[in-house]
Amino acid sequence: MWTSGTILELQRMPERLLILGGGYVGCEFASMFAIFGSHVTLLQGPDQLLPREDADIDAAVSEVLTTQGVDVRVGVRATEVRRDAATGEVVVLLDDGSSVRGEELLAATGRSPVTSELALDTTGVELTDRGFVVVDDHLRATADYVWAAGDVAGSPQARSSRPFRWRCSVDFSMRPYGTPSSRTPAWPRG
Ligand SMILES: Cc1cc2nc3c(=O)[nH]c(=O)nc-3n(C[C@H](O)[C@H](O)[C@H](O)COP(=O)(O)OP(=O)(O)OC[C@H]3O[C@@H](n4cnc5c(N)ncnc54)[C@H](O)[C@@H]3O)c2cc1C
Repeated sequence: MWTSGTILELQRMPERLLILGGGYVGCEFASMFAIFGSHVTLLQGPDQLLPREDADIDAAVSEVLTTQGVDVRVGVRATEVRRDAATGEVVVLLDDGSSVRGEELLAATGRSPVTSELALDTTGVELTDRGFVVVDDHLRATADYVWAAGDVAGSPQARSSRPFRWRCSVDFSMRPYGTPSSRTPAWPRG
């Protein structure tokens, strides 16, 4: 099973690629591998691709992917993944009783913060129930002199927000030591 990071190490193009998850990463890789020549099956649990987007975006993306030859299946949840010992194929069982087979599987079902083994509870740094570091509007964690920014702080998972957050974080972390902060805007709201 591949992730969006490891699949870039594939040494040859899979003839049939299964992708679990129709979010941004799943759609992006479905399109990419379809263009490369793989037969791609995209499996999405909710009733639309990109569930955070409006229905018209879903419709447009579905149309593009379908035109590229992607077999887009929404409203089907995977219940089990196994490898067929006889053929070597990956088999995904679906909750409608059917199954799909492919040569490789890309799991694109979301990313989680890797915070559980850092013993943050001994430091006063609180986590949300999903493992994100709890921060205030200035990216301050719940312990003194600790800040968190980016994906681990539960922000929108986009690089575009990173430089601002980094600057904001450094600014506030340096403030007790007298670093000028007047050029750093307040946390953008809305
Ligand atoms: C396939 C894919 C496509 C994407 N495409 C886009 C896109 O087109 N546009 C966009 O804006 N965003 C995109 N993103 C999201 C974007 O990459 C992330 O939101 C962004 O990288 C988050 O930055 P970060 O610094 O919070 O985390 P990361 O970039 O993940 O950096 C975290 C760093 O911390 C290190 N680390 C982890 N644990 C520890 C530890 N215990 N100790 C020390 N170091 C540690 C990691 O090795 C890593 O280097 C994409 C993400 C993926 C997975």
